[in-house]
Amino acid sequence: MATPRFWREIPYRYRLEGSKCVKCGQEYFPPRAVCPKCKSRSTEKVELPCEGKVETFTVIDVAPAAWRSLTPYAVGVIELTNGVRLTAQIVDCELDKISIGQPVKLEFRRLMDDGPSGVIGYGYKAVPV
Ligand code: ZN
Repeated sequence: MATPRFWREIPYRYRLEGSKCVKCGQEYFPPRAVCPKCKSRSTEKVELPCEGKVETFTVIDVAPAAWRSLTPYAVGVIELTNGVRLTAQIVDCELDKISIGQPVKLEFRRLMDDGPSGVIGYGYKAVPV
């Protein structure tokens, strides 16, 4: 990952910061400057809840080079308690025990090591509760 992008993404990768449309109340992640629902440009930062459930998931057996050492691993669409959906790796469980609707909690973890650039990426992962 390029260093400028890494820095730009810190607020939402590190603090699970989303945006909320001031006009219609819809929340988004990652944050958006314009509400896709009502087109308002009036948005504010919100901290998203860390609790949610597995909406759907898949197990990755063939991964890009940076993630190859983790295979097989699960990635899921997580629906948070406020209805916002995001993708996250599902960890700390048997892959064949993951199920749709399973409650999860997002935890801050080390995500990746960007090789020679020395950048270590952190973010959230989903842990079954
Ligand atoms: Zn809106």
